[in-house]
Order: sequence, then structure tokens, then C-alpha cells
Amino acid sequence: MIKTKAYAAHSSTGALAPFELHRRNPGAEDVQIEILYCGVCHSDLHTARGEWHNTQYPCVPGHEIVGRVVAVGDGVRGFKVGDLAGVGCMIDSCGHCHSCHEGDEQYCENGFTGTYNGPVFGGENTFGGYSRTIVVKESFVLHVRHDEKDLARVAPLLCAGITTYSPLRHWGAGPGRKVGIVGLGGLGHMGVKIAHALGAHVVLFTTSPGKSDDGKQLGAAVVCISTSPEQMAAQANQLDFILNTVAAPHDLDAYLQLLKRDGTMALVGAPAEPHPPSNVFNLIFKRRRIAGSLIGGIKETQEMLDFCADHQILSDVETIPIDYINTAYERMLKSDVKYRFVIDMASL
Ligand SMILES: [Zn+2]
Ligand SMILES: [Zn+2]
Repeated sequence: MIKTKAYAAHSSTGALAPFELHRRNPGAEDVQIEILYCGVCHSDLHTARGEWHNTQYPCVPGHEIVGRVVAVGDGVRGFKVGDLAGVGCMIDSCGHCHSCHEGDEQYCENGFTGTYNGPVFGGENTFGGYSRTIVVKESFVLHVRHDEKDLARVAPLLCAGITTYSPLRHWGAGPGRKVGIVGLGGLGHMGVKIAHALGAHVVLFTTSPGKSDDGKQLGAAVVCISTSPEQMAAQANQLDFILNTVAAPHDLDAYLQLLKRDGTMALVGAPAEPHPPSNVFNLIFKRRRIAGSLIGGIKETQEMLDFCADHQILSDVETIPIDYINTAYERMLKSDVKYRFVIDMASL
């Protein structure tokens, strides 16, 4: 077994604190990664604090992992010692259901195994990226082709990047399409960058007039202040697709009215409490849809990382030492970060 330092929550109310855990020795199909950076996702906070009522303690969060390969099993063909590698939200799935066969392991009908907090339908706990080393089977390890100096800014691509890339691709964001991005946080800022790089006309919706310049710099053609009835009215029936990243309950009707006929709004934020019910008339009169989307499969995650490397897309981050994590959580709750915290694991 491989001993590694980590940070863990031991209860829903306790702060994260130093912890020690053991990783398995790499088996034939395994890759061992020295973790260099780990992004801080809202899911980490929700899980550490038990807000989704499914947390196994001790909880070591972290599923935006980048680092260097330090050992590989005999059967590993795609990675060698010294390679840069990434691990996202999943480390395993059943491998034989319909979804797994189609490369959509995130929708595995038997439940994928989360990088932390174990299988989604329950099972042995797993420990995530707030640690120095991790052992993952090769088929769930991603190649990182970005420049090594940008590694901290690559980490958030492993969750925030794929969570936005997958629905943008699925619903055809590209040239000639008007795409709304709701919310300018960790997810939203990646959504704007990726939708812009895909060639779409991007309309960013934010409640904060102060984020207007940022939004345009990130790639939005239009920044619409969602608290302004005039600005919202100007977007009515204009959008082909909306990617809604807001993780707090809010009025979905305000956005449904902005979709063209047959338009779709995909929700990727996961609020602890439901949104208020939406008015069905907004759906039936223009055959609009409300949809959801969860991260992306491994093949698509690799495609996203390669796309971002080719287009020089990186997350905007604030790099922190691990002992700042509890403060970082408090600041995240106030959206006081541009736009993602990333832990420098050398500090552990
Ligand atoms: Zn995440
Ligand atoms: Zn499966």
C-alpha cells in the first residue's frame, strides 16, 4: 500500500483537516499519479458538508486532478512514467451496460464510481484529489497535452470544462447558433470560453453588472444583466440553446422565454433544493425543452482536453495552499473567486 497525505472532512459540520490514507499498489492496468494541482469544485463543498445527504466520512474531495505519472502497471500501454495526466469525476464504471458501451460512463446504468465518495449507488468509499498521490485504472486516466507551466489552469477542465463542453457539443453550439450561458462562476466562465471557441454567438447572463467587461473578455458577444427587464426582453425568442450553470434555485421561466421554437435549456448546476416549478405554457407554445446534463464520458473528456489544448483554453484560477481550503469554501459561497480555486498540492 502507498501512504499519502490528504485533507478530509470528518463530519458535515467540521472543517477539513489533515488526514492520512492509503492507495493500492498499482495493478497491471493501473496508473499512479503524483497530484500537482487539484481544482475546487462546488460539488466538493456540497459533499464535504453532506448537503446532498449521501456523504461517506471521512470525505477527501477533489475531482479536478492533474499531475505526473510516477508508476504504471505491466499492462498499461497509453501512459509512461513522466507523462502529464488528469483524472476527472469518475474512476470506474460497470463497463458493460448500454451507456458504458456508448462511451457515456457518466450515465452508467449500474452507477459509475466517483473519484471521491464512492459509487453513486453506494459502496466502498473513495478518496479524491485533495491528496498527494492517486492510483486509477488506465481507462479512466486522461492525457494532458497543455504546456506544463499551465497545469494549474488545466485542472478545472476535468470537471468544469467537461460539464460545459459536453452539453454544448450535444446541442450543437457552433457557427450560426446563438447560445446563452447563465451564470459567470466556475462553470459559466468555462461555458463562455468553450462556446465562443466552438464558434457560437454567446450571450452571457449575469446578475452582476460588474462582470460585464470580464464576460466580454472571456468571449461573450453580449452580456445581459438578468435583473434588467429591458435587457432580458431584448433576448426573448432569440436563443437556440441555453446552458444554465446556476446552482441555486431560481426562476427558470425567465430564461425559457428567451429560447426560439424547439430550443433547449440544459441545467448543469445542482441546487440542494429544487427550482420553483416552471410554467408549462412556456414549453408547449414553442416546443421548448428543459434538459439536464452530467459531466461527460471519458472519450469526450479527452476530446475536450485536446480541443482546449488546441485552442489554448485554460481556466481562470486563484492558486491556493491546502490549508486555505476552509477559507476558500467560504469565499466560494460568496462567489468571491475569479473563477476557480486550485490547490497547489506541493503545499500538502
Ligand atoms: Zn465537479
Ligand atoms: Zn455501465
